[in-house]
Amino acid sequence: MTSLTAANTAYQTLHSFQVDAAQATPMVRQFLEVKRQYPGVMLLYRMGDFYETFFEDAITAARLLEITLTGRDAGSLGRIPMAGVPAKAVDQYTARLLEHRLKVAICDQMEDPAQAKGLVARQVTRVLSPGTVTESALLKSDRNNYMAAVVLGPVEADPGKAGPAKVQRAGLAYCDVSTGEFWVTDVEMSQLSGELARIQPAELLVPGRLHRPPGQPVAELLPDVPTCLTESYSCTPLPPAAYEDRHTHRLLLSMFRVSSLEGYGLGWEASLILRAAGAIAHYLKETFLETLPAFDRIQRYFLNDTVAMSPTVRKNLELLSTVKDDRYEGSLLSVLNQTHTSMGSRLLRQWVSQPLTHLPEIESRLDAIEELLHSGGDSGAYSAKDSGKDIVQNIGQNSVQQYSAQPRQQLAELLPAVYDLERLSVRLASANVSPRDLLALKISLQKLPQIAQCMQSFKSFHLLRVQAFPPEIVQVVGLIERALSDTPPVNLKEGGVIRAGYHPELDRLRQLLEGQVQWLAEYEESLRLETGLRSLKVNHNQAFGFYIEISRVQARQVPETFHRKQTLTNAERFTTDRLKTYEAEVMDAQSRVLSLEQNLFSELRSQLQPYAALVKECAHRVAVLDVLQSLAQVADDRQYVRPKLDESKSLHLENVRHPVVETMLPVGRFVPNACSLAHGAESDAPQLMIITGPNMAGKSTYMRQVALAVVLAQMGSFVPATYARMGLVDGIYTRIGAVDDLAAGQSTFMVEMNETAQILNNATDRSLVILDEVGRGTSTYDGVAIAWSVAEFLVSNVGARTLFATHYHELNALEAVYPGHIRNFRVCVTESDDEIEFLHTVEPGAAQKSYGIQVARMAGVPALVTQRATARLNALQKKASAILEVNKAALTEASPQLRLF
Ligand code: ATP
Repeated sequence: MTSLTAANTAYQTLHSFQVDAAQATPMVRQFLEVKRQYPGVMLLYRMGDFYETFFEDAITAARLLEITLTGRDAGSLGRIPMAGVPAKAVDQYTARLLEHRLKVAICDQMEDPAQAKGLVARQVTRVLSPGTVTESALLKSDRNNYMAAVVLGPVEADPGKAGPAKVQRAGLAYCDVSTGEFWVTDVEMSQLSGELARIQPAELLVPGRLHRPPGQPVAELLPDVPTCLTESYSCTPLPPAAYEDRHTHRLLLSMFRVSSLEGYGLGWEASLILRAAGAIAHYLKETFLETLPAFDRIQRYFLNDTVAMSPTVRKNLELLSTVKDDRYEGSLLSVLNQTHTSMGSRLLRQWVSQPLTHLPEIESRLDAIEELLHSGGDSGAYSAKDSGKDIVQNIGQNSVQQYSAQPRQQLAELLPAVYDLERLSVRLASANVSPRDLLALKISLQKLPQIAQCMQSFKSFHLLRVQAFPPEIVQVVGLIERALSDTPPVNLKEGGVIRAGYHPELDRLRQLLEGQVQWLAEYEESLRLETGLRSLKVNHNQAFGFYIEISRVQARQVPETFHRKQTLTNAERFTTDRLKTYEAEVMDAQSRVLSLEQNLFSELRSQLQPYAALVKECAHRVAVLDVLQSLAQVADDRQYVRPKLDESKSLHLENVRHPVVETMLPVGRFVPNACSLAHGAESDAPQLMIITGPNMAGKSTYMRQVALAVVLAQMGSFVPATYARMGLVDGIYTRIGAVDDLAAGQSTFMVEMNETAQILNNATDRSLVILDEVGRGTSTYDGVAIAWSVAEFLVSNVGARTLFATHYHELNALEAVYPGHIRNFRVCVTESDDEIEFLHTVEPGAAQKSYGIQVARMAGVPALVTQRATARLNALQKKASAILEVNKAALTEASPQLRLF
């Protein structure tokens, strides 16, 4: 009890940084001194075979890592809390701390404790935070690990727009220190959280105060940062100095080794962006101490280069993970991912979450996929210039496209042997590569000429880029081949890194060491002859070095030249001057081998370092190839077709399928459907489809598959349909099933209306809108009235291509009010003996019933309830038919303020 109180007191005192270090033991004083330099960071302090934590760090570590909380005597401070992890498992424990969004500083012993006089010198050798990890063991290979920085501020408003002269905007920069990407943009405040939700930074740098007294919410330290950001991300506050213009400018120039940032499109007007980018540079410099990670350029991007999608849209469309349990399986990405390399899987993830709006780039991706499908060109297969319509009918029944698999099969053999060249290139640039990294680099680069060879006959832009790789890779391979052993260890200190024959002195020393066994045997034999002691053995071990061992009984007969070294239960150990000299030679040779190997390895590293940018370029080309072959493979396996994209505002899909749901059903069981939408007079297709039909009929699936076809087409993939033509979409907006957001103080209906408002205020005549029920969370009349008006507004004022599923059959009357613009569709079922069968086909017309009671029965609702419900339904329907006519008349009154396109 006493020790606990003392521990708590020490904890309090440390926390407020008022501890009087003079009172503590020398070791605790040293700890406190280091800790003072790293506020807000968990300090892992090396003591022998353990990394220990103290004070509140120990309490936190014990809780998060499920390790024992013990204590240590800290002099006049009493017993302080202590918890430690074994040094050899430190990576594993650090990863868990980072997952809990903590920052960790590794404080190492800088001298051998056995040699140290007094307190062992210690120093922080690495600061790890969720966004600055570079160690492979702490990173996920299939996704980026981003760190972002946000700076908010007023900028000149667009003079063409009404409103105030200055508007608030956000400068945003993000980078992945493990891959060397560095992106910047600026966004409107309303776009900020959406863009961050796409990036999913592991760490977010924001302006704010560093020290957080216990119990104070992070948000209070970051007064200028929206609460939604402080709650969603691991925020690291940086002091004002980190954002100071001249300081950040200077840091950026030196980090990117340029004399001006204008070449990156970052002039003076981009001050918010520059400050955000500079904050990253400032933080990296502080975190990485000596070895600043290598970035080769800043990439500026604009949000309107990609399809606008809010975090809710991405989630609802299940692009990267499922809505229900946030799993990868069941997402669009999981269906598309047939990549063979880590770089490819990361890039595919980026492509899926960022469909493009720029037609030429989309087309160049599609060209490459088409070529990969048709290589050999002799299969008489479907060409994009043909109409896919004529070639594939009735997917899942009997017609199958003829694609050629040959180059993809070769790639499937070659690409898996290519390691993560992107991350390797970054480690190479910062001289941080291990011997095994160099082996991986060599093996990967050796595959590139073979990849280039198998790409020879292709003509499309992306495939041309992999027909030849920079010739310097031969030099890189040669340098590694000559110097590095074929089986190097992970750790340089283990030795055996350098190939035999590379360095004469190293070979000589190694020979000396290899001759050890023989030398000892010969020496043993000569001593036996000399002394006549047959039990005599000459040997060595790690702890006591070289020794002569003689049984207890014979030990008295040893000559004077033998010096006693150690006494065992049944034997005595001795040494001689000769053995001592030999031992010294061996020890010397061992340490010289090690240091020579280290020198030779760092020489090799320096020779290879200038090639880092080139390796990165190769990595990027291979990653693109990998993604393209993956998309081609999926297109082949699942019979996707090339979409025809243009600048129109229409969308025509035939036999379109849901890419994920179809994989979960037996082959051929998914029922494909058509969809035609067009804005204005571009075609006779409606601009808005009202979709009615029973529960479980497939309305949601249908609408999502249309949205996913757009995502796929605009990310540059083929689509699951037999024909697809679409005008480029600038944004996808959805309102699909809302839940309470009680934490934000929002009821289900409020969430629903927020989403609806966002759609109506942001969608344009180039957007795609998916509405899966609107107005369900309120009374029927309120709901119908809202749903009706929303549909009208979308047709009359927005002009977006829209799919609107509803159980409000009253909305079917809209077709007559907006002929040509709104059309009714229903998802069909057949009904017999009060049983329904879902056909999942979408056809023109209005559904009359929702079959809710039948679905309730199928779900297992007790018969008493469903029977009573049927009786109530019949009674209500009699009354309702009269009311419906009145409602329709009321609803269809024209709205004079609506502007019909
Ligand atoms: P509710 O009105 O109750 O929300 P819904 O009409 O939106 O229902 P969905 O959720 O889209 O129905 O579909 C229900 C199930 O029907 C899906 O989980 C899927 O298994 C199956 N399904 C949907 N569309 C098809 C299809 N085209 N082919 C085969 N099965 C389908």
